[in-house]
Amino acid sequence: MARYIFVTGGVVSSLGKGLSSASLAYLLQSRGYKVRLRKLDPYLNVDPGTMSPFQHGEVFVTDDGAETDLDLGHYERFSGVTAKKTDNITTGKIYSDVLKKERKGQYLGKTVQVIPHITDRIKEFIKHDTSKEDFVICEIGGIVGDIESLPFVEAIRQFSNDIGKKNALFIHLTLVPYLKASDEIKTKPTQHSVKELRSIGIQPDIIICRSERPIPLDHRKKISLFCNVDIKNVIETVDVKTIYEAPISFFNQKLDIQVLNYFKLKSKKPANLNPWKKITKITLNTKRHVNIAIIGKYVELKDAYKSLDEALTHGGISNNLKVNLVRIDSEKLKVSEIKNKLKNVSGILIPGGFGKRGTEGKIEAIRYARKNKIPFLGICYGMQMAIIEFARNQLKIKKATSSEFDKVGVHIIGLMHEWEKSGRKVKGTDKDLGGTMRLGSYDAILKDKSKIRDVYKSRLIKERHRHRYEVDISYKEKFEKKGLIFSGLSPDHKLPEIIELKNHPWFIGVQFHPEFKSRPLNPHPLFSSFIKAAKNHR
Ligand code: GLN
Repeated sequence: MARYIFVTGGVVSSLGKGLSSASLAYLLQSRGYKVRLRKLDPYLNVDPGTMSPFQHGEVFVTDDGAETDLDLGHYERFSGVTAKKTDNITTGKIYSDVLKKERKGQYLGKTVQVIPHITDRIKEFIKHDTSKEDFVICEIGGIVGDIESLPFVEAIRQFSNDIGKKNALFIHLTLVPYLKASDEIKTKPTQHSVKELRSIGIQPDIIICRSERPIPLDHRKKISLFCNVDIKNVIETVDVKTIYEAPISFFNQKLDIQVLNYFKLKSKKPANLNPWKKITKITLNTKRHVNIAIIGKYVELKDAYKSLDEALTHGGISNNLKVNLVRIDSEKLKVSEIKNKLKNVSGILIPGGFGKRGTEGKIEAIRYARKNKIPFLGICYGMQMAIIEFARNQLKIKKATSSEFDKVGVHIIGLMHEWEKSGRKVKGTDKDLGGTMRLGSYDAILKDKSKIRDVYKSRLIKERHRHRYEVDISYKEKFEKKGLIFSGLSPDHKLPEIIELKNHPWFIGVQFHPEFKSRPLNPHPLFSSFIKAAKNHR
């Protein structure tokens, strides 16, 4: 049977529960155990798919097509384990499942209540499909004491009783602040947070104390005494210079060993920290750098392009250099400023996006990259904009546009069901694409002797998608005659997946999101190649 590790947070949010959980997963795996990570989100949205990146950061997409919390991205990047639809749940989803069941009369006339019906559904979710795992790490979003998180905390309390306390471990992550004015480290917020947790029936087994500076032993002893936790299980996590140091730092603090001790398990092999040490060294010590412009709508919020920022950093790691991101807000980008703003960058990236705002600036920036032979990577919306730019300026289809934001015009980008309605027979893949998102992993076939084939070194690739609109394949010949090649297609040859320019050192657009599959210990080839091209530019 799997052992369950529950990670809660206290005092404030954003302390790095996701990163701590992901680092622990890496360490346990490295010691020879099989680990699964799950996230329980207390908000009422059914999934984060419809939430604005301004509010909640990036929406992370899994292979099986779920739109999930960005923490699942951390999990995948650090543990290497591919997340599934069933690894992220929200209060909204739990309630909608319970209410559906209620409408079908499946509660047989009983009064439906938070306890036991909501908590039972949460427990089902935690346990589902975990029989083959050694460990299941479940992170509870938000902090203890939030109204929304109560049913989750109650459910994990019950869960540990159900499976036996020796099979469940509670980790609580809190803040230990340093007060500059009095030059003191304070343990009180931690004490209060643990008190809060205990008042709802959970005694933490391990406390991870996030702190700006090392926590002296007497302070740790105090936390141990007041919070009723063995001193060895009061683990400090001091701010790291790069997130890649996190697994090393938790290893040094013996977090994994304390977890194994709790479950009376032995390490099957020594933990291997060498890959993390290597990339930490590159990240911290490399002096050489390239400037890459990201032109998008949400650039002001750091987490909105989390996986993308990470993937670019990974591309830097594989080329032994630092990637400086020059974030440009597409809505504020005036055509007259483009030359000036882009003069010091060695690569231009247009990420995924939705809606009309900021499109003209993006299109102009793409034209600049094409004409000045600056390495360009267009992701999803970025590829669609590159198609529109080329159609307008090279094919001279001045009204070329997407039906996503222009009712009139030549819809080179559109919805497949719109094309079907206009009498054309189009059949994409076997999934329903009409007006819904194409989500999750799809195959693409790469053209012989193309640049993209060189990048992937493979004919068949699988990449994750999250979009509604498609490039109309019927324009393929027209584009190719002018030098823009459709170098990757869906297996049935109906959907353009990749475009590239013939007479350009590196100009690639992809309909999918390669950033979701890049990992620090295994950088994605597309990002490694893009950064390499940027390095060789000028
Ligand atoms: N808005 C575009 C579409 O739906 C692109 C989406 C994206 O970039 N993820 O097709």
